[in-house]
Amino acid sequence: MKANLVEIFSSIQGEGMLVGFRQIFIRFAGCNLRCSYCDTPAAMTVPETWLVPEFDLELPNPVELDQVREVVDRFDPRIHHSVSLTGGEPLLQVEALEELLPSLNQESGVRTDNSEFRIQNSEGRNPHSAFRIPHFENPQSAIRNPQSKRRYPIYLETNGTLPTHLKRVRDLIDIIAMDIHLPQTSGLVPQWDIQEQFLRLAAETNLIFTKIVISSGTDQEEFLRGVDLIRKVNSAIPLILQPEAKDFPSPALILSYHALARKVLSSVRVIPQIHRRLGVP
Ligand code: SF4
Repeated sequence: MKANLVEIFSSIQGEGMLVGFRQIFIRFAGCNLRCSYCDTPAAMTVPETWLVPEFDLELPNPVELDQVREVVDRFDPRIHHSVSLTGGEPLLQVEALEELLPSLNQESGVRTDNSEFRIQNSEGRNPHSAFRIPHFENPQSAIRNPQSKRRYPIYLETNGTLPTHLKRVRDLIDIIAMDIHLPQTSGLVPQWDIQEQFLRLAAETNLIFTKIVISSGTDQEEFLRGVDLIRKVNSAIPLILQPEAKDFPSPALILSYHALARKVLSSVRVIPQIHRRLGVP
């Protein structure tokens, strides 16, 4: 089995609930959408070669999964919180994920206890009520399967439009960051039903948070529809409002959209992309 990649690199997570954590990013090539605000257009298609800047590597696509494992293993586990599957849309390559994820970063040494996290899904509690930062401070505590020998939690960044693909790999993923696309802001045709289906499926088993990109021209009606989509699944699912970098909304607009969402959902935060500010990839 092979995968098509753009790059594997080490950086700081610049968005969402894990903002500020150091991750190993596996950027998959190819995307089924064409968002107007896309900040990684190079990942929409499959390049002839993919890169590992840290180790000065440029290798041809498609790549054997063993080689992906070998590259990930070369990064220092002491400084990385988790592995981020990003893109493009990683779920487009679901067959590769099915094979890659179970064996990615098998650990031979001693693991830390993760009993705190285990409580969330084994005793029928709402997994989202326990979605608190302390669960992320110790990366091992975010790994869903306590028997797992994986070194890193697996974090999926997804556009949330491929529910049948998600179903095949959701048990191999620890944390899901899902974009909710507002048609006018993203320039996409409405995808409400498929996005709701995806969110429902993910929220059954995974620790998930949602993200909505807001710009100066965000339409209030469709913003509320996106918020309501989350509420219909579970009003405790966290929402991150991410101001669009190229069309940053005014402070008044940011506060107004936060208030609108917070009246409906129990956890709403505003977080701009910080990797741009830091100048890291
Ligand atoms: S889903 Fe993500 S990678 Fe695909 S076009 Fe939209 S922003 Fe870009």
